[in-house]
Amino acid sequence: MSHRRLSEAELARRLDACRADYAALKNQIDAIGFICEGSLNEVYTSCRNPNCRCADPDQRHGPYWQLTWKHDGKTVTRRLNTDQVALYREWTANRDKLADLVYQMRRVSHRAGGYWSAPRIPDSGSQLDSLKGTGEYGNEAYEVQCRVQG
Ligand SMILES: [Zn+2]
Repeated sequence: MSHRRLSEAELARRLDACRADYAALKNQIDAIGFICEGSLNEVYTSCRNPNCRCADPDQRHGPYWQLTWKHDGKTVTRRLNTDQVALYREWTANRDKLADLVYQMRRVSHRAGGYWSAPRIPDSGSQLDSLKGTGEYGNEAYEVQCRVQG
């Protein structure tokens, strides 16, 4: 990751913005209720009685709802009633929301890490002028001034 050389004030401002974004994401986590793993599936079944209507693939029993997840590497399935479906639909949605928030927190942290370690220039105008004068950092210092003002 590379950044243009920024003033101390601009870096501080951007780090503060990262902190604010991060705090907002943490607040959203606070509002998330229970979570659970697994996925909800609507299934139709056959009771394997050859005289039952379900012997016809279009006449199977159901629909039923089930929650499927992995435990110790094995697939576990639990049949759910209507109330449970609503509950677990909410909890799996909460889980996905939490995962998304954690992902965003990692992104903000990554951004903050970039600013944290970014090359920086002194923040006073006179020092900027002297940097410009050297020619070595002249273009970068000028760019920083433009970006801060813009
Ligand atoms: Zn049947």
